[in-house]
Amino acid sequence: MKPPLIELEKVNTWFPGSKTILGKPRSWIKAVSDVSLNIIAGECLGLVGESGCGKSTLGRTVLRIAPLHSGEIRFLGDPIGTLSSKELKPYRSKMQMVFQDPKASLNPKMTIFDILKEALVLNTRVEKHAYLEQAVELLHLVDLRSEHIYRYPHEFSGGQQQRICIARALATDPRFIVFDEATSALDVSVQAQVINLMKNLQNTFNLTYLFISHDLSIMEHVCSRVAVMYAGQIVEIQDSRALFDTPRHPYTKSLKNAVPVADPEESNTLEVLKGEVPKLSDPPSGCHFHPRCNYAQDICKEKSPLKSETGDHSWVRCHFHETLWAQGTLIDN
Ligand code: SF4
Repeated sequence: MKPPLIELEKVNTWFPGSKTILGKPRSWIKAVSDVSLNIIAGECLGLVGESGCGKSTLGRTVLRIAPLHSGEIRFLGDPIGTLSSKELKPYRSKMQMVFQDPKASLNPKMTIFDILKEALVLNTRVEKHAYLEQAVELLHLVDLRSEHIYRYPHEFSGGQQQRICIARALATDPRFIVFDEATSALDVSVQAQVINLMKNLQNTFNLTYLFISHDLSIMEHVCSRVAVMYAGQIVEIQDSRALFDTPRHPYTKSLKNAVPVADPEESNTLEVLKGEVPKLSDPPSGCHFHPRCNYAQDICKEKSPLKSETGDHSWVRCHFHETLWAQGTLIDN
């Protein structure tokens, strides 16, 4: 495998909860807790979990948009976790984000040219006189036409608006793009088109992606590896094919069971995920998943499981993963 483009080491992103009368935090909302992982150059790493598990915050933390409480982030080996806004500037253009709601992320008062020009200014490889030519080229890259350049965002469909957002992300000549639920709001047919576009662009420009979604079924088609997040922690990372065929963590298995299947008889036999997503301000003790886990034992309530390597760039956090694996408990027959 290639070297990592992004490295996260014991990353914590905490937000103050309640405060003392002196304004100091009395409690913390631990949106991201002790996350260590690498994103390999050229891969598409999926990040999946239920709403409210901290995955969007993790994406924003990697880009230094969300505040890093502690830990380190490295981009191509350079530590960027504690850099000031000024020091971060050369890295900003190399790391971009595409959001869930394209309409909300495009300024309705700006033409598409102005929107793309605003991003092109950050690209030192493009000279001022070439902005228009470059903006048109960006539109072509996302399968839009030259005549769209002086139109306004409201004149486009949701799928086209998302293409414009992708063009804007490309304008800075990035190495890394975070897609935060970027296809979730789109119709299924449009979703497939945008995903194909993303894959083509990744191959053409050798881009590295972090693809965030609550929908595990989509990961199989988009991502090379998938990280599963629960209550602020990564509980499993595997090659995407292996994650589907042989999940190592009970939560991954539950997410997989939640994917709709055509045969109602088959879906009736699947274990359904019980209970609620825990509050990040007060997660359960030990393994955060224990109140919802069918395989929990006493130790799970007391002790947080450590990471266990399961292969190349793959690991799981579960006290009983070896037994569950040996018994084939999490594998479909
Ligand atoms: Fe379930 Fe225990 Fe494993 Fe957590 S550590 S996933 S509670 S078996």
